[in-house]
Amino acid sequence: MVRLVENKHSSESKVTQRLPLPLKVYIPLIQHLGKICNPEVKAGDQVSLGQKIASVQAHVAAPIHASISGEVVAIQDWPHPVLGRAKAIVIQGDRRKDEGGFVLRDPQEVNSLTAEDIRKIVLEAGIVGMGGASFPTHIKLSPAKPIDTLIINGAECEPYLTADGRLMVEQTGQIAAGVALIAKCLGVKNIYIGIESNKPEAIKAFFEITGIKVKVLPSDYPQGGEKQLIKNILGKEIPRGKLPFDIGVLVQNVATVYAIYEAVYKNKPLIERIVTVTGSCLENPQNLLVPIGTPIKDLIEFCGPLKDEPAKIIIGGPMMGIAQFTDEVPIIKSSSGLLLMGKSEAKMYDEDPCIRCAACVRGCPVGLMPCQINLASERMLWNLTKEYGASDCIECGICNYVCPSNRRLLQTIKRAKLEVTK
Ligand code: SF4
Ligand code: SF4
Repeated sequence: MVRLVENKHSSESKVTQRLPLPLKVYIPLIQHLGKICNPEVKAGDQVSLGQKIASVQAHVAAPIHASISGEVVAIQDWPHPVLGRAKAIVIQGDRRKDEGGFVLRDPQEVNSLTAEDIRKIVLEAGIVGMGGASFPTHIKLSPAKPIDTLIINGAECEPYLTADGRLMVEQTGQIAAGVALIAKCLGVKNIYIGIESNKPEAIKAFFEITGIKVKVLPSDYPQGGEKQLIKNILGKEIPRGKLPFDIGVLVQNVATVYAIYEAVYKNKPLIERIVTVTGSCLENPQNLLVPIGTPIKDLIEFCGPLKDEPAKIIIGGPMMGIAQFTDEVPIIKSSSGLLLMGKSEAKMYDEDPCIRCAACVRGCPVGLMPCQINLASERMLWNLTKEYGASDCIECGICNYVCPSNRRLLQTIKRAKLEVTK
């Protein structure tokens, strides 16, 4: 683990604001790990807020809903923040704010829901892991093995990002209600929330909640990785090639927990999320509640004016986020941040030969040898990269960060991961 400059100061105390309704949204048909959804609408159709507009074609998928009301004007290829390009449903908004209001579920009815009912609601609401992984949540709530411990991930260890921190402070009770729903689904009583020490307000808020044990974690990166969180909270290691459920643990990000609360208590599908909009180029960094599918240029305009022309635009954090080539790209379910970096922050250095210093090996939080995987990957020795454990890489970017020779280690390791899964 490494200690990074946090750079959270410019947005951590900014109360979440709702972005004004966008004129148009571009909602990708794939926003999850799994198979692309099938559109249920066509150009010319009128859609209401929260209406299902794309359905699943496989078990590993999550349906998609309209994040604004209006008219479907196209289903077309469009920039995608993770995949480069993908099919998206384009909705021209009619600026109706209140229609389609979600009907609150009676608390007594909530109490009588079975675990299976909750899973069905979560599936129908299109909820996926909102911390970046985008794995469909209904599957996570149906683990193949018994779970005895639930860990809520409130670490938010990436520099700059403050969306989860704000959510924990502003919606503490609602997150606690979401936690109770997950606990019911899994039949667990052992519940922890892991929060980094740089979020004292959130820590204080959760200390007031009974039934959830608060673990204050050092502000080290990547504290929010599932394996690191489990090790630091429970002292348990996940064996290579295994997942948390293999040792009876389930980890859920706070934003996902809140989405579960909204789906069950408010009948509200996953149609919006909090995004931290920040970086040295921005005059007015913010935490914004944004309809899914909103192009990032709308967020930039709202937080403007720009102090400087961005040299790099990243969706996500600086370590694990993805650089974007256009400001037409939309926010999707997993977009926790939008980072506008200036020239000095985004400087790319030339790569030098490896000097065998082993800094990347010492820094790797999952015990890999990034320098060796890099060499094997550059020579396209995919079996060797597999032997070196490339698939266990959590793509945290520490190896790149610590390498004095500016080797592009992560890029070649990602390539190896793709090749070994073919
Ligand atoms: S090899 Fe993967 S897990 Fe290890 S430091 Fe590099 S990016 Fe992180
Ligand atoms: S940190 Fe860079 S220079 Fe050092 S061993 Fe790793 S790849 Fe080589």
